Amino acid sequence: MSAATFERERLRVARELAKLSQTQLADKIGISPAAISQFESGAARPSAGTIASFSTTLNVPIGFFAEPITETHEGFFRSLRRTAVADRRRARAIAHVARDLAAHAAAAGRFPASDVPRVPVSGLGADRDEIERIAGQVRKAWSMPTGPVGNVVDLLEQHGVVVIRLPLGSADVDAFSLPFVDHPVVVLGADKNDRARSRFDGAHELAHLVLHGEQIWGVKEVENQAHQFAAALLLPADEIEGELPTTVDWPKLFELKRHWQVSLAALLMRARTLERMSKDTYLTAIKAASARGWRRVEPLPLGQPEQPRRLLRFLDDPASREARQQLPVHIVTGIASAA
Ligand SMILES: [Zn+2]
Repeated sequence: MSAATFERERLRVARELAKLSQTQLADKIGISPAAISQFESGAARPSAGTIASFSTTLNVPIGFFAEPITETHEGFFRSLRRTAVADRRRARAIAHVARDLAAHAAAAGRFPASDVPRVPVSGLGADRDEIERIAGQVRKAWSMPTGPVGNVVDLLEQHGVVVIRLPLGSADVDAFSLPFVDHPVVVLGADKNDRARSRFDGAHELAHLVLHGEQIWGVKEVENQAHQFAAALLLPADEIEGELPTTVDWPKLFELKRHWQVSLAALLMRARTLERMSKDTYLTAIKAASARGWRRVEPLPLGQPEQPRRLLRFLDDPASREARQQLPVHIVTGIASAA
């Protein structure tokens, strides 16, 4: 490629994929850290030869640096643990590549456009009714049938959301999302082998896309809103209210867990939120669950977490040839084998 088509943001993405700092990359290819900084800020352009060195050193196709990039997102991460920063940046960079792949798939008619409703919440003090109403709006906009959501990952993919699974333990985060306009990305942890929790994480990240977009995340209220939305989406009040027990009825709760494919913890919380359970009954249930070790590993596992499929299917399709030439798709296929 020629230096004229160099997209500066791509260099940072490629560098973060390789978990290298500007200085480390500069050392590897024998130029100054200031030069890398200038290439990334757009103050200078690398020569074709330097771009070729980036491609080799960072293990991305040379065409990657010419891929148009219209949006970048910082992403939100709860923890400030310093050791996790490089892992987090790498996870974010992989999410960018997954979005690029979805854009190629969409251009080939193999991935739907996003129709995630954007309904910004009124503020940090939004009440539960408002969140329940917005979750209901999403169910309606997406023509979701009544009853349990069959597969949360499929649901997101059907509506143009890119879902990938990554081992996120070292990044010190359970899940995160990036609100790209064309294809928002939801990243779920591959290290938690719990279907119920993973479904809830998916619905929680959808909440951020619907309610919060690029607004400042990380405050407790915002996380609570996302939890409330997830609970309302997976367990609509008008359907679940009459089913939830008013006492600590484990057989009933087990039955509901199996049917609705959510954790006991989520059901108990829902029973409390909807005021089916008194505060005392709820606390009794939580204590009993703790004493049995159910807060760590719940009984009645629901099987393997749901797996994203659409992008991997696209990579098997001849229509993905250009994407395979332009993008470091091994990053995405590597995810599949790691999951
Ligand atoms: Zn969150």
